[in-house]
Amino acid sequence: SEQTRVLEIQKEDLNRNATDIAQKAQELEQASRYKSDFLANMSHELRTPLNSSLILAKLLGDNREGNLTEEQVKFARTIQSSGNDLLALINDILDLSKIEAGQMDINAEPVSFKRLANDLTRTFEPLAGEKKLSLTVDLSPDLPELFDSDRQRLEQVLKNLLSNAIKFTEKGSVTLSIAPKADGTVAFAVTDTGIGISEEQQRTVFDAFRQADSTISRKYGGTGLGLSISRQLSRLLGGHIHLQSEAGKGSTFTLELPLNYNPDQVPARVEPAT
Ligand code: ADP
Repeated sequence: SEQTRVLEIQKEDLNRNATDIAQKAQELEQASRYKSDFLANMSHELRTPLNSSLILAKLLGDNREGNLTEEQVKFARTIQSSGNDLLALINDILDLSKIEAGQMDINAEPVSFKRLANDLTRTFEPLAGEKKLSLTVDLSPDLPELFDSDRQRLEQVLKNLLSNAIKFTEKGSVTLSIAPKADGTVAFAVTDTGIGISEEQQRTVFDAFRQADSTISRKYGGTGLGLSISRQLSRLLGGHIHLQSEAGKGSTFTLELPLNYNPDQVPARVEPAT
């Protein structure tokens, strides 16, 4: 009958649409695989030549034969430090792309709070010392000895927070306090007595390429990617990061993580940074 024929046609249409959608999904998946492969290769292709230039610039700057002029040594050191900045930028951009592509692997293992605290102190004491800032790492006695997390990524976040705290503080102190919370999480709070962040700017500092203030960023340098990466990494670690600050007084960035990393409690894909 006429009605059956109409239904048949509608069914055919639906089938065709379903096939189209499946094909599009496959194409998208393929494109995303190409993108990930490209990024992985790119990371290698960019880093390899840069690393060899950096090694050579260091050799030159060391001037072991003693046959370079003072100016030549200065140039070699500038090549080295600019190269290091470029390497850091490349690493940041690649990290961010990896996270957005859902390709950032988290490798959880038992992490010792004490070792973490010691390593961070050793890394940051010289930097704090240069600016005559006091650096304190405060480990709560209520912490267990170990907890489960990705040590490398956790350190990446904490190093970013600590280096910002030191960078944006002219006098006073920087403190990292690590303590368990009643809800079974652990809080890593980085507090500084630095320039602080105004309420308006607090809304955008976690966005990629955003710096609180262009006059400030010209003075302090940086890429504006660190906090964006830190926020994404803390979510991949099953936690989150928040900020309390008052302009002119100082800031506290707090990273909260579960005491036991559970891959099932992590969103498969974090929303791309804006
Ligand atoms: P970068 O430090 O490379 O500029 P980040 O993403 O780490 O990038 O930080 C973004 C911006 O947030 C900084 O440019 C700065 O304006 C502001 N900011 C971050 N940490 C602090 C801090 N501890 N005190 C004051 N401002 C900060």
